[in-house]
Amino acid sequence: MTTTTKYIFVTGGVTSSLGKGIIAASLAKLLQVQGYRTTIQKLDPYINVDPGTLNPYEHGECYVTDDGAETDLDLGHYERFLNVPTSQANNVTTGRIYQSVIEKERRGEFLGKTVQVIPHITDEIKNRIQILGNSGDYDVVITEIGGTVGDIESLPYVEAVRQLKWDLGDNNAIVIHLTLVPYLSAAGELKTKPTQHSVKTLMESGVMADILVCRTEHELPEELRSKLAKFCNVREEAVIQSIDASTIYDVPNLMLEQGLDKVVLKKLDLESHTPDLTQWNKFLQRHKNPKTEITIGLIGKYVELQDSYKSILEAFIHAGAENEVKVNVESVHSEYLNKDNAKVMLSHLDGVLVAPGFGERGIEGKISAVKYVRENNIPFFGICLGMQMAVIEFARNVLKIEDANSSEMDPETKNPVISLMEEQKTITEKGGTMRLGAWACTLKKDSIVAKVYKTEAINERHRHRYEFNNIYKAQIEAAGMLATGSNPETGLVEIVELPEHPWFVGVQYHPEYKSTVSNPHPLFVAFVKAALKHKKKK
Ligand code: GLN
Repeated sequence: MTTTTKYIFVTGGVTSSLGKGIIAASLAKLLQVQGYRTTIQKLDPYINVDPGTLNPYEHGECYVTDDGAETDLDLGHYERFLNVPTSQANNVTTGRIYQSVIEKERRGEFLGKTVQVIPHITDEIKNRIQILGNSGDYDVVITEIGGTVGDIESLPYVEAVRQLKWDLGDNNAIVIHLTLVPYLSAAGELKTKPTQHSVKTLMESGVMADILVCRTEHELPEELRSKLAKFCNVREEAVIQSIDASTIYDVPNLMLEQGLDKVVLKKLDLESHTPDLTQWNKFLQRHKNPKTEITIGLIGKYVELQDSYKSILEAFIHAGAENEVKVNVESVHSEYLNKDNAKVMLSHLDGVLVAPGFGERGIEGKISAVKYVRENNIPFFGICLGMQMAVIEFARNVLKIEDANSSEMDPETKNPVISLMEEQKTITEKGGTMRLGAWACTLKKDSIVAKVYKTEAINERHRHRYEFNNIYKAQIEAAGMLATGSNPETGLVEIVELPEHPWFVGVQYHPEYKSTVSNPHPLFVAFVKAALKHKKKK
């Protein structure tokens, strides 16, 4: 088989949560800045067809691509690091693999053969891995295999990797195995045994690791590296230390210092160039040396979990660096918020973001937050459900439509200012059926948002079922809340704002998905700026 695309597989051992996604994204960055067109793909061994149906408590945020795929949050890291959009092809689950094999079987495509894990499931996995490579768009495809080697669910993936390495040849496909080297404080020692075992587990499936990336809290001494090299069949230079970093954005530089890119390029018979990290380091410099700080309240119901609002938190890091301020994000649980304690909970904040979400729990708290910041001139940013809450609050408290609601929360409401689109009414299946992916939006001249975006035609990513109800538009606008962005074809309202307020913007889409290190999202940048101004005025 001839190939021009090189493949790098990233597997994990010992434990989960070692940060395979960040290692993959950091390596991709180092290859990208040496001129290699690089993309990253995540294979997830669970049976859900996509993470769209998963509770954020289970799996963190669901990330959405331009083409409307509901994907794993690691794809967010890939985009934030590389500034290149991902797509449906960048995230594949076991559920999707089986779904397509079973559909083929039903169509009779296997011509009477018995359909088996090997070769049918593994062939489907191999095809999915090569879709990106065969597109001609990339020199290097990095495929991150979710889970940990040795898991029952991972076996078909590891087998597919073994076959691909064989098919493509050693200099076209390599395996990076990420493991943990734990420190036992009682013994005062770093331990290599778990890594040895996990490399062995990989070998039992016929896969040799080419490179070991070892997560560690302490520097790996020279003799420990040699020991690992010897026991695990890798060269000493291919034992890479990945020490805990204060920010994920340090990892590309840490990997550069360790020479991960050099080892990878050598193994793949590719030339090394001097990596140009100027832009990246400029961002880091600003991120690490803020001139001042602000505190933003994040009102949501999954606030205990960092991963649930991952892209929002990262977008604040990008926007903070752009403004040279440190953005402290204070989580406020919407269920504990009401009109009586809103002042105590919110008055010290420099800005308030009401988060996306689903279902009724916590929404009255979100509405109280909007009321408080609207009346007290605190900068407000509402995203998706947050925008919907801003519309409901305005209808209830300014228009005096006291029972105004979203038909998501009260299907019987007499005043559904937020309601289900006609085409959504007949949908019964939950997976992949929302308004998803990039949709065009036209901005009104002279609006806050037109000034922020510096254009009147934008494209942003969506993930919702309910919409601003245009029946109420004239009434709402007459009272001072303007619909300043709408879809040019359907007329659906995408943005509302209050021109009389210092900064009050609600968007039906998710700007956070498109914020990257080299392209901080203009709305986050403007919101941080407004919060800074508010702080100075206080
Ligand atoms: N639950 C709301 C809807 O479906 C908002 C979704 C969201 O915030 N992503 O329309």
